[in-house]
Amino acid sequence: MQFFSTRGDGPVSLDEAMRKGIADDGGLFMPQQLPSFDAADFDDADSIPRVAEVLLRPFFVGSSLEDQLEAILAETFSFPIPATPLPSGGRELALLELYHGPTAAFKDVGAGFLAACLSRLESRKDSPLTILVATSGDTGGAVAAAFDARAGMRVVVLFPDGRVSDRQAHQLSCWSDNVVSLKVQGSFDDCQALVKAAMADPGLSSMHRFSSANSINIGRLLPQCTYYADASLRHYRRTGNKPGFIIPSGNLGNAFACIMAREMNLPIGPIILATNANRTIADYFETLEWLPRASLRTLASAMDVGDPSNMERLRKLVGDAVVLRERLGVLSVSDAEIEASIRRDFKDFGFATCPHTATATHTWRQLDEDLAAAHDWILVGTAHPAKFETIVEPVIGEIVPLPPELEEILARPAHAITIKPDLESLAAAIGGA
Ligand SMILES: *Cc1c(COP(=O)(O)O)cnc(C)c1O
Repeated sequence: MQFFSTRGDGPVSLDEAMRKGIADDGGLFMPQQLPSFDAADFDDADSIPRVAEVLLRPFFVGSSLEDQLEAILAETFSFPIPATPLPSGGRELALLELYHGPTAAFKDVGAGFLAACLSRLESRKDSPLTILVATSGDTGGAVAAAFDARAGMRVVVLFPDGRVSDRQAHQLSCWSDNVVSLKVQGSFDDCQALVKAAMADPGLSSMHRFSSANSINIGRLLPQCTYYADASLRHYRRTGNKPGFIIPSGNLGNAFACIMAREMNLPIGPIILATNANRTIADYFETLEWLPRASLRTLASAMDVGDPSNMERLRKLVGDAVVLRERLGVLSVSDAEIEASIRRDFKDFGFATCPHTATATHTWRQLDEDLAAAHDWILVGTAHPAKFETIVEPVIGEIVPLPPELEEILARPAHAITIKPDLESLAAAIGGA
């Protein structure tokens, strides 16, 4: 399959689209056309890697990785992604637990897949590819874990000093020599600006062969469609109903994958985006005007996005605000509502939710009665609550036990280099004046 930029450039191969991350014209890569499936196409697919193989095979036609897809998927989906039933008092309700990977957040899926693909594409090159990643928390850890100790690959993680939790900072800084962790004396926006500036700098970029692994990379979106396909198919086979999904959203990468899966004719009902107090999408659906803005800091920090970049893809795939708001719902959830929802989840479900996941549980409780009763619902759990223990534990008044994968990471020694938010400091830290 061939890929085109949302702004027109192309075509390029899947290999090229993944290697580049972003198109030369500044747009985001999209598949030329989406395949369409019947539920019966997945009759023999009894596990997530098998579902992924059927779903992703058409995208790999003509890729140099076509023969290696099975191995790539076995590496990517090495942990369970269960949909756990929840008590609802009405229609069926479940939590899709996307947080059992190495860094306990859904980004492990996309990062793991991209790493499995890029390391195979790059294995024969003599100078390493350098992945630059600006992170407000979860992305950097997932990318670092996925590329850790892979030959031919280097990762430079930039995170804002003092704006990530201690556990997050540790997860960003505890990897092998091929991962350089930079604590930037500035905001997340400064980190992102630095990545852009480095990639645009001819001297630095020819020396380092930069690539980006932020959620704009098509190699992160494709595998994310898989868990929506798997969860919806299992639900549909068992009940005959197409479940609705409620998805905690920031940059719209995770939600876009669900929308893509629905466009590929998987049995998915309504899709509702749950955002935090960053209202850019909610306001867009209300006023039809797209007004990106600086991000606000909230308790659901991995969703603190004021200019969601995947909106450009969403418009290309589905249409403008008038169409979009017919096909999707959105609710903006305040910090006070997030705290109340964490408390309520703990009481009603018997376990804690992370602040991001709590935007989805809150949104479900706010659903219009008719809409709630018309569908079964799957709420998407994007991170393990133990990653955000400083927020969650005071709210529920209990300790959240660490899952084994986080325990293992937190036991490693950590090391980060502190830099000023300018290109000279970045260049000095990664080599090259
Ligand atoms: C990144 C992240 C989100 C937001 O996902 P997007 O793809 O940016 O919309 C939500 N929750 C957690 C825990 C995350 O790490």
